[in-house]
Amino acid sequence: MGCPLPRVLREMLYRSLTGFIFITALAVSALTSLLVFGVIGLILTDLLSHTGTAGVPSAQEIFGEYLWELLLASTLPPIVGALLVTYVLRAKVSKAIRRLREKAARLSSNPLLEELSREDLGFYELNLLRDSFLRIAQTLRDTTASRDITELELRLTKALVIPSDVPKKWDDTARTVAERLSEVVPLNCMFVGFSGEDGEAVVEFFWFCDRDGSYEEEVKERIRKTLPGLKEIKLRAHSLTAGDKREGELVGVFFRDASVGGVFCSGMFIGERDSARLKVVEGFLPALMSVLGSAKALEEYARNIEYYATRDPLTGLYNQRVFWELLEYEIERAQRRGYSFAVLMIDLDNFKVINDTYGHDFGDKFLREFAKLMRKTFRREDIVARYGGDEFVVILPYASEEEALRSARRFIEELDNFYVEAPDGKPIKATVSIGIALYPQHGESTQELFLTADNIMYKAKAEGKSRVMLPTDTDLTRTAEREGKVGILVLEALEKELVLPAFQPIVDTKTGDVHAYEVLMRIREDGKLVNASRFIHVAERMGIIHRLDHLLMDRALEKVKETDFSGRLFFNLSPRSLVLEDFLKDVIELVEKHDFDPDRMVFEITERDTVKSIDLLKGFAESLKREGFHFAVDDFGSGFASFLYLKHLPVDYVKIEGEFVRSILSSKMDRAFVISIIALAETLEIKTIAEFVESEEVFKAMKGVGVNYVQGYYVGKPRTEL
Ligand code: C2E
Ligand code: CA
Repeated sequence: MGCPLPRVLREMLYRSLTGFIFITALAVSALTSLLVFGVIGLILTDLLSHTGTAGVPSAQEIFGEYLWELLLASTLPPIVGALLVTYVLRAKVSKAIRRLREKAARLSSNPLLEELSREDLGFYELNLLRDSFLRIAQTLRDTTASRDITELELRLTKALVIPSDVPKKWDDTARTVAERLSEVVPLNCMFVGFSGEDGEAVVEFFWFCDRDGSYEEEVKERIRKTLPGLKEIKLRAHSLTAGDKREGELVGVFFRDASVGGVFCSGMFIGERDSARLKVVEGFLPALMSVLGSAKALEEYARNIEYYATRDPLTGLYNQRVFWELLEYEIERAQRRGYSFAVLMIDLDNFKVINDTYGHDFGDKFLREFAKLMRKTFRREDIVARYGGDEFVVILPYASEEEALRSARRFIEELDNFYVEAPDGKPIKATVSIGIALYPQHGESTQELFLTADNIMYKAKAEGKSRVMLPTDTDLTRTAEREGKVGILVLEALEKELVLPAFQPIVDTKTGDVHAYEVLMRIREDGKLVNASRFIHVAERMGIIHRLDHLLMDRALEKVKETDFSGRLFFNLSPRSLVLEDFLKDVIELVEKHDFDPDRMVFEITERDTVKSIDLLKGFAESLKREGFHFAVDDFGSGFASFLYLKHLPVDYVKIEGEFVRSILSSKMDRAFVISIIALAETLEIKTIAEFVESEEVFKAMKGVGVNYVQGYYVGKPRTEL
């Protein structure tokens, strides 16, 4: 559109407030002046035309003569007036806008916003504008603040996500978490408190700056307020990558009761002032607590598993399984390097009397003290294990005949000064019989060495106690014969079908009803019954156990048919039997023959005779499961394989190792272990059975910790009749 004014001028005049005011003021003043002066001119002209005289110029002439002055006089004041008005208005508006701009530039905190809301900008319209502006600013601030808070929450939570390879040590987890937190908040230190034994608490501090005594005091103070009964608060310091220390504020949560892992408080000192952000950090602390507590509980659990996998729970010595493994290892080593070593079989002569006179508790105490003495007397590199009951075995690596004899005699001498004070104050002493077998003179396999040492120990005992003995040549032949005798017994039992079942009840702790029977193998010999523990090992080694198992199952199913018992039957199974090609076919044939529902049959798997490939075992177990049979892990907790079985096999029951059950009343550690097995089983929806429940107290304790079923002499001994 053709406009006579250049664009720049147009912009300046219309778009700037000053130009606009100026033009408007100018136009209005000009019009007013023109009107005023026009009217004055007309009145004057009219007046003078009536009073004109000859020779005197007429009004028009005079008006014409002063036209320019008049025009000047009528335009100048409006321009000056407009300039004046513009100047004043511009100054006032500009000042208001400048104030608004200044405030806006500093608008970073709430107080300034409030100050601005009180500011009068001098014009009603500008004040309206200010209010709208304030509303927008507030909305913006709210949005940014809530985004900031959400982001903080997210980042804090992310800091807690532990990588899938869980570190074994809880403080590694705590360090990682602390390092990550320090990337999210200005962290001076993080702390976490655990309740310990006997009214003690331990607070672990993770420092990002130098240790600060005042922080430690503040935390202690808060703990004392929450738990006034605490005897002692111990502090532990862990230093992490040091950063700048900021003015720190305590954010913490302190609870009266400890939660998982014994954790009861946690918190941090952070250089954060914003109250909303501090609240978010505080809200996050319970999650931090539970992560650190779980890490601690996991560490303890793993330690327990490791410990019990290799140790005898009562004495802390190596267990039978480790003894066999190490013996095998020692044979390989000695063979390669061409040296000899010794196995000592040590048996307490009078333990039965001690136990019968003073009871189980004292018996246990005695064994613990005795084990301590063994550890003290033998060398560090000697392997000391509890074989079972009051039988102990020691492997003496690199030992010659003389050295083995010397070691054994030294132990007997040490025992001379050893006693444990009985409840009646009497010093109770012990004597032992020791049998020695040397590799390779007395045996080249684990079994040979063990049996030789065992036999010689019995011989030593028979010849008057407190003796050490080495085998003679005749002893060695006799040992081989003894092994042979059991072998013959087993073969004969199979041939003449002398195998028969003994039934031991498994009782429901809630109802007291018999839930099932465990079927145990017995062999009839000269009218007497031989217990499984005497021949199972030999039968397994001879590779005929599966045939005996088959025979026993046949007999047991036949027997049950004659009764009205409708519950389940538990059969012991060597894993080696389970993986035989024909096992599944045979067992299906058996249940069909006796019209027995597979749902009523449970196979107990032990780890005594472990199969190398767990995958193989898994395949067989799953096909049995598909047929409707059930599984139990026997002697659960006695070794590492228990957990492997649980992970890989379709397990329905775990039978808690009798050793833990027995000592539940006397050992805190065993009690904790039993409880954690039950918790684990519950999570996996597996039923628990406690073995070796021999007394009412143990029965009650087991019921108390939530075991589903119990088995043992207290509820019923194995009987051949149902
Ligand atoms: P297990 O499965 O741990 O069986 C428990 C053993 O402890 C049985 O000895 C049983 O008589 C005994 N027992 C039960 N309750 C108590 C109690 O309260 N206190 C005490 N002190 N002992 C109790 P048994 O019959 O001599 O069996 C020894 C092991 O032989 C069994 O240990 C099992 O692993 C194996 N076994 C038994 N029968 C068979 C079988 O038919 N086939 C296979 N493959 N193995 C079997
Ligand atoms: Ca069993």
